[in-house]
Amino acid sequence: MAKVLLVLYPDPVNGYPVFPKDYARDTVPALTDYPNGQTLPTPEAIDFTPGELLGSVSGELGLRSYLEAAGHELVVISDKDGVDSDFDRELVDADVIISQPFWPAYLTPERIEKAKNLKIAITAGIGSDHVDLNAANEHGITVAEVTYSNSLAVAEHTVMQVLVLVRDFVRQHRIAVEGGWNIADAVERSYDLEGMDVGIFAAGRIGRAVIERLAPFGVHLHYTDRFRLPAEYEEKYNLVFHENIQELVKNIDVLTVHAPLTEETAGLLDGELLSTMRRGAYIVNPARGAIADRDAIVRALESGQLAGYAGDVWAPQPAPADHPWRSMPNNAMTTHTSGTSLPAQAKYAAGTREILEDFFSGRPLRPEYLIVEGGAYAGTGAHSYAKQAEPAEAQ
Ligand code: NDP
Repeated sequence: MAKVLLVLYPDPVNGYPVFPKDYARDTVPALTDYPNGQTLPTPEAIDFTPGELLGSVSGELGLRSYLEAAGHELVVISDKDGVDSDFDRELVDADVIISQPFWPAYLTPERIEKAKNLKIAITAGIGSDHVDLNAANEHGITVAEVTYSNSLAVAEHTVMQVLVLVRDFVRQHRIAVEGGWNIADAVERSYDLEGMDVGIFAAGRIGRAVIERLAPFGVHLHYTDRFRLPAEYEEKYNLVFHENIQELVKNIDVLTVHAPLTEETAGLLDGELLSTMRRGAYIVNPARGAIADRDAIVRALESGQLAGYAGDVWAPQPAPADHPWRSMPNNAMTTHTSGTSLPAQAKYAAGTREILEDFFSGRPLRPEYLIVEGGAYAGTGAHSYAKQAEPAEAQ
């Protein structure tokens, strides 16, 4: 029987909510398919109500009764960083490690070396850059994630942050809350998105969903990706393709970032690139914090080269209290929440259960969930991750 180690973010400071009385809503919409026809997760059963808080320690991704009924041991922890952490102590005999990008349990080569029984590392969500994939390959460890589970949740958050920056919502809200009514102060940095050039860096699941959601705002859409989208898709959204990000950023007012963190994308948004953007451009990056050069972003906001920066990803996570992105001017940062809305949690919890059911039954995992398997990049991973950047903790 297996030991399953689940690393989750801490419960709410006021305690774990009781469903449904402590929740804002009683239900979440029931969905079956993603836009590309891929089905939502199909576990044999779930032991939670969609809409419950599943991603924190007491939520346990809704896995305890299933795992214990099958005779497995479930250990749920939150303390994940440093050599004296619960994570370091518990991983030595774990067969399965499950972590979420919002609260990443960094599986460095040293930790993988210590985890002698580890067979599979599951990302409850999307983005397995917190796992050293080369080390996983060397040790024959499978890495899987719940592809598509929260892509649309992130796309919604992206659109929100684009509008928040361009219209300067944060300042206006603060004036309202603080009892003021000075319209001139409230609008001195407020613009309309309509008519702006918006550039999408990487038109994968999230990038395309952002394109589709922004199109009705009357913007001019641009993008770059390793491969061009089909001509009919480009025509439908009137998309301008650019060969690379260097060409893209010169021609836009707003950049949204949706590439995985790899060797090619780490540190890509650096001072040099930012200096080629139009003065007063905006960036929204919900992909990975390490794609941007932390200090170059701060400098560009301070000089006015950037009019705003938002996103919800940082390096490392959790970001220290004195991380400069918390206090830099004209930021609309959130902590890493875009992909862990309550409906998104239901999707990736169900997907994690589906992966576990297949893994314990010896059935092949869905190829779209696979990142590495049997010592090589596989499925989605073969496509997206063949060149990995160093996991954030090591940077
Ligand atoms: P997809 O795999 O669907 O899309 C990624 C896209 O990036 C693909 O189109 C891929 O191109 C492209 N790409 C990869 N490398 C490059 C490169 N060097 N230059 C240009 N394009 C590149 O993933 P998703 O859209 O679902 O997710 C994207 C990322 O968003 C994830 O990797 C993750 O880091 C992040 N994420 C963040 C979340 C959050 O909560 N903030 C939640 C979910 C994801 P191609 O396929 O053509 O090779």
